[in-house]
Amino acid sequence: MNEVLIEKFAKVIVDKGVALQDGQMLVINAPLEAATLVKYIVKEAYLKNSKKVMVNFSDAEVNKQEQLYASQETLNELPDWAVARAHYIVDNGAASLSITSPKPGIMAGVDPMRMQIASRAIMPKMKFFRKYTMENEGQWCVVACPNEIWAKKVFPDLEVAEATEKLWEAILNASRVTLDNDPVAEWNEHNKALSSRNEILNNYNFVSLHFKNSLGTDLEIGLVENHIWAGGGEHSKKGVYFNPNIPTEENFCMPHNKKINGRVVATMPLNYSGKLIEDFYLDFKDGKVVAYDAKKELDALKSLIEFDEGSSSLGEVALISHNSPISNMNILFYNTLFDENASCHLALGASYTTTNLKDAEKYTEAELDALGSNQSNTHVDFMFGSSDMEVTGLTHDGKVVQIFKNGNFVF
Ligand code: ZN
Ligand code: ZN
Repeated sequence: MNEVLIEKFAKVIVDKGVALQDGQMLVINAPLEAATLVKYIVKEAYLKNSKKVMVNFSDAEVNKQEQLYASQETLNELPDWAVARAHYIVDNGAASLSITSPKPGIMAGVDPMRMQIASRAIMPKMKFFRKYTMENEGQWCVVACPNEIWAKKVFPDLEVAEATEKLWEAILNASRVTLDNDPVAEWNEHNKALSSRNEILNNYNFVSLHFKNSLGTDLEIGLVENHIWAGGGEHSKKGVYFNPNIPTEENFCMPHNKKINGRVVATMPLNYSGKLIEDFYLDFKDGKVVAYDAKKELDALKSLIEFDEGSSSLGEVALISHNSPISNMNILFYNTLFDENASCHLALGASYTTTNLKDAEKYTEAELDALGSNQSNTHVDFMFGSSDMEVTGLTHDGKVVQIFKNGNFVF
């Protein structure tokens, strides 16, 4: 890929993504394939007077060997120094950047129970760090970069090199980076558009949403009281405006974890723990999944739903028009960061408490649960939007308001 474009992408990530502040530290988690992108991000961060940039490279093939051959005891152990490192990042108020580069199917052959037992052991120790990002204590951002396995999955008919180039193009387009544009200005415009839609949705203050389409989705989702619709840029607790996801097209809110009823039929495969779950549905009663099935990788879906108390309920509901830039590319990315921005989606697991609930910080965890917030240790999005999706909202005075007609926002 043309390095001019990669450098432009790096600037958007540092400026609009993590919105790095003068003197702030930056921590980057990246796959080996992102080395060139990381080089430009590090350059850009220091040009913006970052105090320190810390880069953590990893490789999925290496991780897989550990998952396959290390003892369960080893997998379950998170060394003290790793926890201390995360504390160092939080204590110094660093911005946190994750570059994802999924390798769909790479974990085939790895026992999902082993991975699940290990993440159950590790995740509580890192809860404070998840809070740091999910609750916007510091700025954080997720972006993507291609790898050959992913590129071949998305463009199976092309040669590896060509497929990788095409995937780069798609990622950059979706991220609003082209040779002749001013991506920072475009991101400012885009954030404005998303926030005016949030305002409309917030003014309605819906009690619940109802989704219906011809595939069999017929789902009612109660929203928590005092919810906030969010999407696009967000403010950190220190007041810094940043973009947690690049790209992003969604307006999202917090379902009430005890007020979800009906069936949702997924419209895209879900890449979970390296397994591709296909053609699945979930039935909800009073907020809990009570029945489900999948044509492929049912075990992976089961391990997700049974991960913990909250993973059998929802933490996020997001609206995206069927007619939207990423959706119109007509590419199945097999990756949530992109596919979730092409389609209405839900997340099993934790809610974005601070983002989606007014005055969230004044409640204890037990109070938050009672209010309908999902306190799970996981958060996994799956897509269910379609070209014929109808969405309505119920207001407090009993009015039914059309939100989506034929797959698209009506406002
Ligand atoms: Zn979302
Ligand atoms: Zn999500």
